[in-house]
Amino acid sequence: MIDTVICGIRFSDLIIQMEEFHGYRSPGILVGGLMLDVAQEEMKPTPYLNAVTETVVCLPDAVQLLTPCTIGNGFLQIMDWGKFALTLYDRTTLSGVRTWLNADVLARFSLIRQWFERKTPAEAKPPFEKLAAEILEARGDLIRHRPVRLHRALKDSQHVTTIRCPECGEFYPKRLGPVCPACKGDAYFTYYPV
Ligand SMILES: [Zn+2]
Repeated sequence: MIDTVICGIRFSDLIIQMEEFHGYRSPGILVGGLMLDVAQEEMKPTPYLNAVTETVVCLPDAVQLLTPCTIGNGFLQIMDWGKFALTLYDRTTLSGVRTWLNADVLARFSLIRQWFERKTPAEAKPPFEKLAAEILEARGDLIRHRPVRLHRALKDSQHVTTIRCPECGEFYPKRLGPVCPACKGDAYFTYYPV
């Protein structure tokens, strides 16, 4: 298990890297690493790699840890669908591979099922080492994949016209209306009085 290589990284090193990046040892990042491994194996190597994750948890960090695609460089898109699936594609050809967790294997792997179907944070988490061993044992059956073609590149490369908000004086995209979202009433904060 220690010698397993995932996305070119030894398992034992991957555990350290995910702790540094994600904050703790994450079964979801391990599964994400296996998904990325499969997707990259099935794709022609490309310098124009893009990624889409279909959940906001774990998988975005697996992509950012193990590929050049990040939220900040725009090559990772995140869909809040709550599905444990991700797609890698070449943004010049729009061809890629979608991978997802095969729900059919959950009946055979009880720790993976316990982790995956955990409905509330209060439910017991399987110990990481045992769960990771089961994930690696199941890896061949656990990850399904199929080639896909994107309908369009998901990176928003349109030039954004910005204007100055008449109320706060900060710049924001013009398409959002005559005042910025915060001044319109959508602010997620209140300033403390000065
Ligand atoms: Zn404003």
